Amino acid sequence: MGINIAIDGPAGAGKSTIAKLVAKELSFIYVDTGAMYRAMAYYMLSQGITKETEDKIESICEQADISIKYENGVQVVYLNGENVNAYLRTEEVGNMASVSSAKPAVRKHLLSLQRNLAKENNVVMDGRDIGTTILPNAEVKIFLTASSYTRAKRRFDELVAKGETCDIQEIQKDIIERDERDMNREVSPLKQADDAVLVDSSELSIDEVVDRIISLYREKTKEMC
Ligand code: C5P
Repeated sequence: MGINIAIDGPAGAGKSTIAKLVAKELSFIYVDTGAMYRAMAYYMLSQGITKETEDKIESICEQADISIKYENGVQVVYLNGENVNAYLRTEEVGNMASVSSAKPAVRKHLLSLQRNLAKENNVVMDGRDIGTTILPNAEVKIFLTASSYTRAKRRFDELVAKGETCDIQEIQKDIIERDERDMNREVSPLKQADDAVLVDSSELSIDEVVDRIISLYREKTKEMC
């Protein structure tokens, strides 16, 4: 059984940046579960599914064979044998992921992939329901959040740096809608686990958040010895 650090929180809270750095510091594997849901969403879009035809998602999700490999320390997501990493980070895929991930059949399809990775490796796994559903016995659980404006601004800065034109209010609106869907769905809603530590990154630097998580991990492992 590996040692597990679970990091949950809303879109744009900085989970992946933080989780990657924590994993590097501890020589753990970083598992980005959002990328698995995004691969599923990408599959749905490739099959012509839209929000209007979302009722078809459950019946076709079994056709999406999603697996993970680590290549030079980077998580690569394969969808039916094809490396799809390059297609996963668009707003379209992110928005569809928040629709398709609400479907019980989609969550069931990805659950064992996530649990097996955590069983066989020391992992820092980020997502929405890692501390509550996927790894309820994780040694360290963090609920990482930030205000919707801070999260929209971070995304806006990222897109501008890539040379894209975008509207911060539109991004904030999308983030709020996505939060609503993630928090209010029936299966595995986004929720802080009772034993998770709340970290609000709005006023903290990346290093401060990483240090906080590493200290929590060290305290926990000291207790276990
Ligand atoms: O974290 P990321 O933005 O990549 O996730 C994309 C979408 O996938 C989220 O909006 C959420 O709806 C869904 N997701 C989820 N459970 C996870 C990870 C992501 O429902 N464990």
